[in-house]
Amino acid sequence: MEGQSPGLECPTCGATGQGGPECRRCRSDLRLLQRLEAERTAELRELASALANGRWSEALLSAQYIHTLRKDETSFRMLAVCQLLNHQFEAAWNTHRQYRTGAGRWAETP
Ligand SMILES: [Zn+2]
Repeated sequence: MEGQSPGLECPTCGATGQGGPECRRCRSDLRLLQRLEAERTAELRELASALANGRWSEALLSAQYIHTLRKDETSFRMLAVCQLLNHQFEAAWNTHRQYRTGAGRWAETP
C-alpha cells in the first residue's frame, strides 16, 4: 500500500507529497483523507474487475463512487466510459463537458 502512492495534498495548506498522519507544514489531521484515498484505490480495483467481466451497471456505480471521492482525469474518463457502456449518452457528454471546462485542473502532472 505505501511507497507507490505519490502522496496526498493537504486540503488546508496545499502541501503535497504527504505520507504521514498529519501535515508536515500545518499539522492538519490527514487520516480521514488517507482512509478515503485507500477506499478509492480499492474501488478502482472493483471497477476494473466489473469492466473485465462485462458488469456495466456495477462498473458505473463504482465509477460514480470514485468520482465522488475525488475527481481527477482517471475518474472523469472512467465515468464517461461507464456511462457510454450503460447507454447514458447525454450523461457521458455532460461528463466530457465538465472535464473540458475544468481541464488543466483535472489533468495529472505530465
Ligand atoms: Zn497542511
